[in-house]
Amino acid sequence: MDLGLTNKIAVVQGASRGLGYGVATALSREGVRVVICSRNRSEIESAAKSIQSEGGYPVLPVVCDVANPEQRANLFETCRKGFGPPDILVCNAGGPPPGNFTEFTEQDYKRALETNFLSAVESVRTVVEDMKTRRWGRILFITSMAVKQPIDSLILSNSARSALTAYAKTISRDLAPFGITVNCILPGLHRTRRLESLARQISENSGQTMEETWKELAADIPVGRLGTSEEFGAVAAFLCSGKASFITGQSIVHDGGTIRALL
Ligand code: NAD
Repeated sequence: MDLGLTNKIAVVQGASRGLGYGVATALSREGVRVVICSRNRSEIESAAKSIQSEGGYPVLPVVCDVANPEQRANLFETCRKGFGPPDILVCNAGGPPPGNFTEFTEQDYKRALETNFLSAVESVRTVVEDMKTRRWGRILFITSMAVKQPIDSLILSNSARSALTAYAKTISRDLAPFGITVNCILPGLHRTRRLESLARQISENSGQTMEETWKELAADIPVGRLGTSEEFGAVAAFLCSGKASFITGQSIVHDGGTIRALL
């Protein structure tokens, strides 16, 4: 299926590895000119090289902590100067640290909200007027299956993602008349660096080996394995395409069947 994305312009945040990398790679394979960011220069430059070598289209790496307003402004300015204003915005960052409600201070909540909620709100504000003028845009937020079923040990993530979900639903209704869709993709368990550090913690707490921990995590997933960044990227690219123009305001779960809820 031709997704009709050739020559579109995308900003994909948190894309030096993991799910963001998977999304940037899938978009690049479809002919999208992609600007990617993360906080580490050598990691983001090496990610840009490998995405570009696969897709064959130019990829611009930018060093940017999405929670930092100046660095975020530079990210969008680099896109504008290098390619033009973005047609596609994918908001993503590392998840907040694990822990329960007794463990975190107001500062911890503020940091989680800045990184996993307000950075997305401000990124949308930066790109949306150009999208409105062109009457075409795709806004995608990478959240978590925790939005459907909060995870006990991830109170900061549960809280910040839920705020972003409500924001996404609200703006999706305002932006639909302009040809702009706004959706969230909710990852279940995917084998990325983020999950490796959570698995290490589970294994230390339980005394299991890492291999036993991976097996136990996969056993809870009906398809019997963890997801891949490539599978995740393919779904994201479809949601960013012209083919998905009637899908907006949705939270699409990508979890191998883990969540039991009907909605
Ligand atoms: P990851 O840690 O493997 O990769 C995160 C990427 O974002 C990296 O490129 C990292 O350098 C970058 N990054 C981190 N903080 C950043 C910041 N402040 N500014 C800019 N870049 C930043 O994580 P992942 O597994 O790819 O997960 C992506 C998102 O999805 C995270 O928010 C995570 O919590 C969420 N999630 C992941 C899973 C999973 O199983 N992997 C499940 C549910 C939710």
